[in-house]
Amino acid sequence: MDLLKQRILKDGKVLDGDILKVDSFINHQIDPLLAFETGREFYQRFQNTHTQIDKILTIETSGIAFALCAGYHFNVPVVFAKKHAGRNMSLDVYQGKVYSYTKRTEYTISIAKQFLSPGENILVIDDFLANGQAVLGLLDIARQACANLSGVGIVIEKGFQPGGKMLRSQGVRVESLVVIDSLKDNNISFREA
Ligand code: 5GP
Repeated sequence: MDLLKQRILKDGKVLDGDILKVDSFINHQIDPLLAFETGREFYQRFQNTHTQIDKILTIETSGIAFALCAGYHFNVPVVFAKKHAGRNMSLDVYQGKVYSYTKRTEYTISIAKQFLSPGENILVIDDFLANGQAVLGLLDIARQACANLSGVGIVIEKGFQPGGKMLRSQGVRVESLVVIDSLKDNNISFREA
């Protein structure tokens, strides 16, 4: 997705530890126009899956905007997994574990059972795919709910980290709007489509 590549080149910053900082348009301040374009692109890529998509699943916080934009085009509900169970959270929940390599901690994500039903066709959307742990946590919850996975849509895949390969080797359809092959020497290089 050329618009996204150009924006990453213009405003993305490479931090130590192979981290791409995109908080001026994705992770903190959000560019609505770009976000809506990602939603349209996800729709174009996944609308011809043999099954109709019933629901979009993401994880708070940064996935929500992009999941919502995709959900608008599919005209389906968007459910986000919560990292912190507040007092108004249902107690009847599916839970999954996510290990964060960046924070070196494991945390629990929860989705109320009332928002995920057996047989529903699920599209998972997230902002980044690195080691794939966040997506695996969501897939585990979808499996517990006996929902069907239609695919995974990612805004930025870090192709030099193992998440994408691991998911695809399990037969998961992963569509990433851009794939970054390297962040070496502060140079952002994209994989050619
Ligand atoms: P994974 O579970 O695939 O290793 O990482 C998923 C999460 O880690 C993403 O949702 C994102 O929040 C965060 N993440 C991983 N790598 C990066 C990065 O280079 N930049 C930013 N901004 N977030 C990242």
